[in-house]
Amino acid sequence: TFTAMVIDTVDGKPKGAFRQLSIADLPDNDVLVEIAYSTLNYKDGLAISGKGRIARRMPMVGGIDLSGTVIESRSLEWKPGDKVVLNGWGLSETEWGAYGRYQRVKSEWLIPLPEAFSLQQAMAIGTAGYTAALCVDALEKWGSIKPGEGEVLVTGAAGGVGSVAIALLAARGYNVTASTGRPETHDYLAFLGATTFIDRATLAEKGGPLQRERWTGGIDSVGSTTLANALSQTVHGCAIACCGLAGGADLPATVLPHILRAVTLIGIDSVIATRQQRLSAWARLARDMDKGKLDSMTTVEPMSKLPQLAEDIVAGKIRGRAVIDVNG
Ligand code: NAP
Repeated sequence: TFTAMVIDTVDGKPKGAFRQLSIADLPDNDVLVEIAYSTLNYKDGLAISGKGRIARRMPMVGGIDLSGTVIESRSLEWKPGDKVVLNGWGLSETEWGAYGRYQRVKSEWLIPLPEAFSLQQAMAIGTAGYTAALCVDALEKWGSIKPGEGEVLVTGAAGGVGSVAIALLAARGYNVTASTGRPETHDYLAFLGATTFIDRATLAEKGGPLQRERWTGGIDSVGSTTLANALSQTVHGCAIACCGLAGGADLPATVLPHILRAVTLIGIDSVIATRQQRLSAWARLARDMDKGKLDSMTTVEPMSKLPQLAEDIVAGKIRGRAVIDVNG
């Protein structure tokens, strides 16, 4: 048997707790993976703490990301010994997830571990980092950001998505402005590549529908008034990639930036992204994610600390990325 973090209903509410499982308990998917590491994302925090209804059937093994080694495969695509990564695909929502030593998953959910990364580094990136890469890919495809010109806004800067987004943007030469509520992280964010800082409180206050044009692009993991202000401050013809709701799921905005300044709001979903989008995002990470910066944003924690870490990430107290050692 092995220990797993399992979400189940307690007094009518979802809550995570440790349970013993055996390989025989796992779903009948075609690839059995021995998991080395998982991660802690905001969504994992919501699932374990019960502050959000993430699991849609119970009991549900938590953990939306894994890196590990294939030990059995009924798919021609994978063989024992292959090193693999899995992000999203409904893990911890509709499919049993990564917080345990073993999981059986569908072959098509897996991608090869990029050569640039160890199993631990791939999880230092995790869904948060891979989502940041999807955002940068989307902004570059839109075409309004230019190295060395204009300002690209990153909100929720000291969080997981924000930290990786800053490092990836800086690596391509974009000028990055970091919005954070934690001034004590400025040195860290400057090391990652941010050159200008704004206090997140200024973006959180309700503002006018058309404000001074400032951002040639943006990556927003906060939502709510923060995203509404970001759109109102976006330069004509430019775009904001929206991926999160750490500040709220509402969007108290007007259409004016869109119809008078041709501003675009790009939606990013990492869970159901295509294989091509995933491979492209991971190729960007392999090329542009500086290992020293990655190490500076990462802590490795044993699985036993998940209940506390879940509370911490929902409270906005985690800096950068937390890797989870599923054997710890
Ligand atoms: P995280 O590490 O907790 O980062 C979130 C950051 O947002 C915090 O570090 C904090 O940054 C800021 N923040 C927290 N509470 C806030 C509040 N009330 N008002 C304003 N800012 C606040 O979480 P994450 O894993 O990076 O995820 C960030 C968001 O993206 C989450 O909502 C998550 O669900 C979403 N997400 C979506 C996808 C997708 O596929 N669309 C994928 C990954 C993540 P500062 O301390 O710097 O202010």
